[in-house]
Amino acid sequence: MSAIPQERRVVTAIPGPKSQELQTRRIAAVAAGVGSTMPVFAARAGGGIVEDVDGNRLIDFGSGIAVTTVGSSAEAVVRRASAQLADFTHTCFMVTPYEGYVAVAEQLAELTPGDHAKKSALFNSGAEAVENAVKIARAHTKRQAVIVFDHGYHGRTNLTMALTSKNMPYKDGFGPFAPEVYRVPVAYGYRWPTGPENCGPEAAAQAIDQISKQVGADNVAAIIIEPLLGEGGFIEPAKGFLPALRQFATDHGIVFVADEIQSGFCRTGQWFACEDEGVVPDLITTAKGIAGGLPLSAVTGRAEIMDAAHSGGLGGTYGGNPVACAAALGAIETMKEQDLNGKAKRIEAVMKSRLTAMQEKFDIIGDVRGRGAMIAVELVKAGTKDPNPEATAALAKACHGEGLLVLTCGTYGNVLRFLPPLVIGEELLNEGLGIIEEALAHV
Ligand SMILES: *Cc1c(COP(=O)(O)O)cnc(C)c1O
Repeated sequence: MSAIPQERRVVTAIPGPKSQELQTRRIAAVAAGVGSTMPVFAARAGGGIVEDVDGNRLIDFGSGIAVTTVGSSAEAVVRRASAQLADFTHTCFMVTPYEGYVAVAEQLAELTPGDHAKKSALFNSGAEAVENAVKIARAHTKRQAVIVFDHGYHGRTNLTMALTSKNMPYKDGFGPFAPEVYRVPVAYGYRWPTGPENCGPEAAAQAIDQISKQVGADNVAAIIIEPLLGEGGFIEPAKGFLPALRQFATDHGIVFVADEIQSGFCRTGQWFACEDEGVVPDLITTAKGIAGGLPLSAVTGRAEIMDAAHSGGLGGTYGGNPVACAAALGAIETMKEQDLNGKAKRIEAVMKSRLTAMQEKFDIIGDVRGRGAMIAVELVKAGTKDPNPEATAALAKACHGEGLLVLTCGTYGNVLRFLPPLVIGEELLNEGLGIIEEALAHV
């Protein structure tokens, strides 16, 4: 655990004077298109705390968007990455390879679902992994169409903007987008017209009908889905939806890709969220939690599919950087040794019991959902299911002012999401929930 005291501390207004000074410099020097949740500048971070330049200690319910699952300065990550830094920073795996890359690929083969032969390719960002999954699926199937889902998020590069559902802020004004991308309904239980019980099979039937009639199953290279949708609002596809699409993909020779960039690596209380319904993807994309904060991503999957791309067709200068690989081995070691899947389940139990109690009290909470340490509340106008983005923004702002770092998400901007590091202490977790409850009482 980190040396930073695991206590919330608010000693200035938030943002404090030093953060405000840095914000002035930032506005002058950094492009406006890069946003930030809070105008608070970090000085150090670890465990469940982010300490800012003014000495405030924020409770971290964001993990840098589901990245620092093991904390922001996990001992094994710092130790292994530091040792690698001293040995060499880069040779380029495509020039002279090194063991760390191979060791990460071996770990991915062991940890991802399914006992078939697997191979991996490593990249830098989540979007890059998704792009490469599409390249590999197209090379393997000799087909072009890609199926994605309402509320899906897959990144900000040109192809992944096309795959992403939400216009603002991800796509607006940035087209034209890549062709041969088709979007179909997802099983969003809370908003399904005939109710959550019917949602899984009905949504699957609709999605499959649209694919069959509008695209043609034989034209489809890949179906790409987040087994627990992240940016779109922490939507758990209703039961039966994922297995039905997995089966449809099998029946038609389509590569089934699970985008586990946000939901993977213990986040939901399992190594990967698709395990929840026993779904075995052909390819799986990972990033975020994989390397304790260093930039690393991967595509892992069936060896015969992964090998479909010709030599030199995959890669990149920095892909699988040795320091990032060392950090990944440290993060995975931490997840295993500290049973972070167990920790995620415990976080779910604490959060869900308190949040469902709040739902009884506050009628703007329409839904409490998620798994493990990927939990959210969907906020609505009292007595309706109309999205309430105003209350969501006000709640987030109130929490920030009290020293609790929370994030929002959702197609309608009305979801407050919680992604604490899995190493957060239970006292901090409860204190954070208390701040949320207090904020709810005041909006
Ligand atoms: C964050 C995210 C991405 C994109 O990852 P970047 O590293 O930001 O490019 C893709 N898919 C999902 C599900 C994500 O949550």
